[in-house]
Amino acid sequence: MITRSTRLNQVAYDIRGKIYEQSQALVQQGHQVLSLHIGDPAPFHFPVPDHIVERMAAHLRDGQGYGDAIGLDEARAAIRAEYSARGIKGIRMEDVYTGNGVSELAMISLQALLNDGDEVLVPTPDYPLWSSAVHLYGGKCVYYRCDASSDWYPDVEDMERHITSRTKGIVLINPNNPTGAVYPAEVLQQIVKLAEKYNLIIFSDEIYDKILYDGAKHTSIAALNTKALCLTFSGLTKNYRIPGFRAGWMVISGNVSAARDYIGGINLLANLRVCSNLPAQYGIKAALEGYQHINDLIAPDGRLQQQRDLCYQKISQIPGLHCVKPMGAFYLFASIDLPKFNLNNDYEFVYTLLTEEKVLIVQGTGFNYYRDDHFRVVFLPEAAYLETALDRIASFLERKRVS
Ligand code: PLP
Repeated sequence: MITRSTRLNQVAYDIRGKIYEQSQALVQQGHQVLSLHIGDPAPFHFPVPDHIVERMAAHLRDGQGYGDAIGLDEARAAIRAEYSARGIKGIRMEDVYTGNGVSELAMISLQALLNDGDEVLVPTPDYPLWSSAVHLYGGKCVYYRCDASSDWYPDVEDMERHITSRTKGIVLINPNNPTGAVYPAEVLQQIVKLAEKYNLIIFSDEIYDKILYDGAKHTSIAALNTKALCLTFSGLTKNYRIPGFRAGWMVISGNVSAARDYIGGINLLANLRVCSNLPAQYGIKAALEGYQHINDLIAPDGRLQQQRDLCYQKISQIPGLHCVKPMGAFYLFASIDLPKFNLNNDYEFVYTLLTEEKVLIVQGTGFNYYRDDHFRVVFLPEAAYLETALDRIASFLERKRVS
């Protein structure tokens, strides 16, 4: 028997977990499953902006060889300009890294840092990349709460309560997956104070920073110019709707001189993975400097804004479900009053919904939420598709209602 590493014991990715596998089996049997489970815009007809693809295509031959380990100069210069314009001071070219998506850079940044038993503060709920990567590299994930009662903003007091002498850093996901919260600058200021007081690294995953509704304003925590070391992550995956190209980046700012050894470790791991997908890096400058189609999608009459409204209205109207209106990203994280439907937990809800209604969503515990009565819905599909899926959820719950 060949067994997996015990390091994987606490590694999970339920977005493509057991219930997803069950949905694939249903598809094999000929069922049509309505999929509101993954944040991939491609199946829902969001075309890649032409100028990005054209630039990548024009440079395919230039991207034939290995590139620089930390990334293509023109891409890093464009990223540096973008983040300098946000007010992050003192970014040098060597502070900017490209990677095969945020996923790879998140892993490298934690792998280079953690010794066994080091602690990292991670939000509950979180995007499971972060908690899994902490576990994978021997760290201990310590969760701080984000709750619907405070619009899903981080509970900074809870964060502070969990800091110990082993705490190395704080993970922020802003705008948030799975909750859609966009954190106000005042909350970020409080987090900066904590990071400075306890000498913690801030890992800020801002992959949805241009997907904002109702005029919400996104603040990069690094733009508050904290003395703490800040690693800011983003990429082309969501804002430019091209996850398949695997183009992400990381910008290091703050007290870099005190982190030379750690940064040397990041460079070593960047060398070890040789380089990130080079043709995709040619799309970065084109994306950042070109027309921002995302603004059309999030305008009041834009497709994403309309789908957000539809999803929020429909879920809010279903008795027994409650949710906060998402202000960013393309997810809605709702609670379900389980006893009302004679359901034991979120897993049972999501699993039974799939088998009976052929609608695929993800249970809240898949995002390490400490309560087991939530679920996440993705509102990327077109209105008609969304409406059908949400109507099926409504009729399922109508059928299950016991009180
Ligand atoms: N971070 C967050 C918060 C995400 O939601 C996702 C994907 O859903 C990722 C990172 C993965 O990004 P990438 O495709 O750039 O690896």
